Amino acid sequence: MALIQQVVLNSRPGKNGEPVAENFRMEEGCLPEDLQEGQVKVRTRFLSVDPYMRCRLNEDTGTSYLLPWQVSSVVDGGGVGVVEESKHQMFRKCDVVTSFSWPWQSQAIVDGKILTKLDPELVDGHLSHFLGVVGMPGLTSLLGVREKGHVKPGTNQTMVVSGAAGACGMLAGQISRLEGCSRVVGICGTDEKCRVLVCEIGFDAAINYKKDNIAEKLQEYCPDGVDSYFDNVGGEISNTVISQMNKNSHIILCGQISQYNKDVPYPPTLPPHTEGILKERNITRERFIVLNYSDKYDTGLVQLSQWLKEGKLKVRETVVKGLENIGAAFQSMMKGGNIGKQIVLVSEG
Ligand code: NAP
Repeated sequence: MALIQQVVLNSRPGKNGEPVAENFRMEEGCLPEDLQEGQVKVRTRFLSVDPYMRCRLNEDTGTSYLLPWQVSSVVDGGGVGVVEESKHQMFRKCDVVTSFSWPWQSQAIVDGKILTKLDPELVDGHLSHFLGVVGMPGLTSLLGVREKGHVKPGTNQTMVVSGAAGACGMLAGQISRLEGCSRVVGICGTDEKCRVLVCEIGFDAAINYKKDNIAEKLQEYCPDGVDSYFDNVGGEISNTVISQMNKNSHIILCGQISQYNKDVPYPPTLPPHTEGILKERNITRERFIVLNYSDKYDTGLVQLSQWLKEGKLKVRETVVKGLENIGAAFQSMMKGGNIGKQIVLVSEG
């Protein structure tokens, strides 16, 4: 038996509680020496912490496609690693692989069925990008804009993005521009994030929702109103954006992170005034779930990789080192500690 490190669920924050690092616990575990037919032994390189995991901390996730994590059981999520041994015909030693159900362990023996082989050339060997720009957040941004954004090049459209300095938001703003928006404005939680968005990433303007008057700043930065809104956060920020949206405009309902520590259904209902604006101005607000577009993943990933290589997509990551710090990384991301994609580095190449 080989000794490994693993992270289990220690406690639940409760439906109305903020998650903390102590909701997770590090333990030693062991792996059997021998693989069964169909199994693969992997070494974990990078793990992802994501807002959707907040609902997996509840006893009932409130959705049919996500199972709750169990107390004292190993936690899982998006991960990337390297094959060390394989008894599955699709995988060989040294292959780079990913899964949405990667156990939070230093090494693991998994069923080959949960793994997908990756081509490191797509990210020029920068494997953490498979959890960000050339992974789920990249696809969410690309397909969100394409499927729900109604962006038409040459029509002088303005896109507003909330959660703009995070993994999806930062990419959604850039992709909106690449797809044809002429003005892109971000909303995020610190001045430093605003600076990064405007000076490094190429947003036209950014608003610090913790400090600025959002309504006034939107009027200043979006003189022709808002044509598309990539909504990552919901709540008061979104009500304010919606109040400045144009007739026949579109909301990409990606996420509502401001409501995730509250016991409310998803998507949360809007206040009557905001509902009234949607109806009056014929604004669409359709729920977007990236998992519903799996037939578009392969072409989407190639597109994202191409833009990345051409320098058309700029990327930021916030990397925390060590499996023992993954709970703290999750807590920090949920409170805005990240710029770009929050990644956990588990082992070096
Ligand atoms: P992320 O934006 O990298 O990280 C979360 C960010 O949310 C934090 O950095 C923080 O930034 C912001 N935040 C936290 N509490 C907030 C609050 N009360 N009000 C406003 N902002 C708050 O995470 P991500 O992975 O890119 O996910 C972004 C959103 O997309 C989430 O809502 C997620 O659920 C959603 N999503 C949806 C799909 C889908 O298929 N629909 C797929 C992936 C992700 P600040 O400093 O700006 O507060």
